[in-house]
Formats: sequence, structure tokens, C-alpha cells
Amino acid sequence: MSARVVVVEDEAAMADVLRDNLEAEGYRVTIAPDGPSGEAAWAAGADLVVLDVMLPGVDGFSLCERRRAAGDATPVLFLSARGEPEDRVRGLRAGGDDYLAKPFHLPEFLLRVDALLRRRTWGAAAPPVEELRFAGHTVDLRSWTATLADGRREALGVREVGILRLLAERSGQVVGRDDILDAVWGDDAFPSSRTIDNVVLRLRRLFEPDPSAPVHIHTVWGVGYRFTLDPEADHEETR
Ligand code: CA
Repeated sequence: MSARVVVVEDEAAMADVLRDNLEAEGYRVTIAPDGPSGEAAWAAGADLVVLDVMLPGVDGFSLCERRRAAGDATPVLFLSARGEPEDRVRGLRAGGDDYLAKPFHLPEFLLRVDALLRRRTWGAAAPPVEELRFAGHTVDLRSWTATLADGRREALGVREVGILRLLAERSGQVVGRDDILDAVWGDDAFPSSRTIDNVVLRLRRLFEPDPSAPVHIHTVWGVGYRFTLDPEADHEETR
């Protein structure tokens, strides 16, 4: 069954464009032109809500806060003419999962919709990784300790555990820097790219046989990182 996207948007022209493009991607779409009908459509069942901020009736932020307070975890993508950093923070604080300022590029919108729906699928299907075994290392992601292949035990920091967990949960896929910042640092911190690099550097020193030629934690230049659990198996597949 294709995913149902509820679009809460009061500008009819914008709503039409979103509907056409989402339907072309195979999604089922419900349009709601104001806050109250949006809340009703959302409560009736949605896999993703695309939520305008300035709406008649009730604004998007308040609507999202209300659904979250009711225990609703449906992914929310805010659309807003207000693209200032404080508006984005306000949207994320209200429980939004992503925020796109108008005007936006339609392919970017569709990519974000796809990413939010995939994240939801992982959340539903895969339990969180609690222990990670690779290359003779055992990493306990609950106690933040690693037993290395040579028997040494090392304590890990919160960012190290966060990055390792995220990469391992998406093993074989490229994980972008923005996703890492979102998942590991959260909304309120703005670390530099170098901060991520430094955490990855320590992870490589701990877990890579040769940290200068990594076989587990790969850099994908300009994008982010990719984790390979078993380089041998990977090699077999590509042969
Ligand atoms: Ca509006």
C-alpha cells in the first residue's frame, strides 16, 4: 500500500502543485485547506504530514504541538514562507521532523518526503542496534563500552556511540552530515563539520586495522559517511 500524505495548505495553487507531484511519485494524497480540517485528516490516518505554518483556524506549529502532546509520532515536514533560523528552530521544537522554506525546489521537497517516509519505515521495522560486532570488536551501545579485538576495553563518548549507532543502523548506506547532526547533536547545537570528523577520527583509531585506510567507516566526500560491517562480504558481492 502506498503511503498516505496529508497536505495541510491553504493556498490552492500550492496545494495543487504538491498533490500533482506527490501523486506522480505514487503517494496517496489528502489536501486540507485549514488547521481544523488538517487536524481531522491527520487524525484519520497519515504516514506523513506536510504542514504549512500560516493557516486559517490554527497555525501549523500549534497543530503539530497538539498532535505530539496526544502521542502522535507521524513524521511532519513543515513548509513555511518564514525561513529564518528561529522559525526553523520553532518548527523543530513544535515536534516537526523537517522544515522547508518557500519557495522551494520541488525535487528537494520530494527527496525530503521520501527520506522522512523511509526513516519511519526503519523505525517501525528495525529495533535499535544494541550490540555491534565487527572485525573482532564488540561494542555495547547501551553501556557505551567497546571490547576491542586485542582484548582492550575502551569507554566511548555519547557522540561516538551516537554516530556509530546511526551508521550501523544504516549499514551499507551513505549517511549525510546533516542527518548525523540531526540525530547525534539534535536541534539546539550547531557543531562544525570538523567536530564530526574528530569523532570519526577517534572511532577509526579504535576500530580500523589501519585508520588511514578505513575499511569500515568510509568517507563519502562532500556528503557524509558509510559503514561497512564486513568488508570481506562486501568484496565478494562486488566481484
Ligand atoms: Ca499559508
